Amino acid sequence: MKVDNGDGEDCCVKVAVHVRPLVEDEKLQGCKDCITVAPRKPQVQIGNHSFTFDYVYGSTAAPSSSIFEDCVAPLVDGLFQGYNGTVLAYGQTGSGKTYTMGTGNKDISQSGLIPQVMNFLFKNIENSNEKSEFKMRISFIEILKEEVRDLLDTTLSRKPDLPNGNAGKISVMGKSPVQIRESSNGVITLTGSTEIDVQTKKEMVACLEQGSYNRATGSTNMNNQSSRSHAIFTITLEQTCKLNQASDNEMRLIRTNENEDMIVEDYLCAKLHLVDLAGSERAKRTGSDGLRFKEGVHINRGLLALGNVISALGDEKKRKEGQHVPYRDSKLTRLLQDSLGGNSKTVMIACISPADINVEETLNTLKYANRAR
Ligand code: ADP
Ligand code: MG
Repeated sequence: MKVDNGDGEDCCVKVAVHVRPLVEDEKLQGCKDCITVAPRKPQVQIGNHSFTFDYVYGSTAAPSSSIFEDCVAPLVDGLFQGYNGTVLAYGQTGSGKTYTMGTGNKDISQSGLIPQVMNFLFKNIENSNEKSEFKMRISFIEILKEEVRDLLDTTLSRKPDLPNGNAGKISVMGKSPVQIRESSNGVITLTGSTEIDVQTKKEMVACLEQGSYNRATGSTNMNNQSSRSHAIFTITLEQTCKLNQASDNEMRLIRTNENEDMIVEDYLCAKLHLVDLAGSERAKRTGSDGLRFKEGVHINRGLLALGNVISALGDEKKRKEGQHVPYRDSKLTRLLQDSLGGNSKTVMIACISPADINVEETLNTLKYANRAR
């Protein structure tokens, strides 16, 4: 992780809103579209409430590729410069988080953000100069009921095309619980979860597919595929750049003195978290009871803590006063601690349904996202 004191707009959290179109089911129920996206401003209107964000993507306006270009490509660029980054998809179940991120259980669609990250990442690597060497690792975990679960643990179930190049990299598979550790220099690591070395895009896609396949889902009244867990797909990029730093003259000097070239190595390591958050709906709306209710309560803890952390980071006055940022309040914020705030780049994408039956939850989502600015 790179550290410099460059304060400025890089510190803040960018917030985008993605409005999905009405889905078939909503049309059948006779739902009306209750969201208005302003034509040339990043503004949404719902009833007599109006909210302004960094970016707004309406269901008809911009093609979805610009979410990637505006919000996520700068984070991938940051990865090559040694900056950690986090992309968060927030919203009620059924609002399009998984569609937007591309962590779906079915075929991984090319339009989701994670597949686009992969394309862009490998294109950058191909275009980089030959003096750079890259290593990439993938982890994919979920947090359910304040417990971390390894989604790349192939003892759960195994998709046939998972790359094998991970021998020796796998810590105890699924036997010991996954734990979040913080090193003395503030770097957060996971112990007991699988990290897979990948060299090709195909191998990276296989990790995404394997993890999505393993992801816990449970049925609620709102959506059978609804997920009450946070899924976190993490790409770690290590970069070694061999620099022949000495100029010709200096080189000759070095040669005469030591009879060999002075090779300087530049090493950078950074990670990008791509997070498909748990559904933000209130427990009562999912008809929760018993076990489901307990899960609901725990998930809210992560989202609550995330909202508090992001709003503390966004409040420059509080930050300058050195006010406490409550990372320790949940597993989610603990895990993301070194990739939220500081020099890292964070984007929250608030996903919303345009249907009038969802008005209450949509308002909650917009208010939550508004706190992040
Ligand atoms: P979530 O992950 O928030 O529960 P999903 O991503 O599963 O929501 O989306 C719910 C439904 O809406 C799915 O059928 C999905 O295909 C559809 N959907 C979501 N976003 C879009 C979009 N931008 N365009 C078209 N359909 C979408
Ligand atoms: Mg989902």
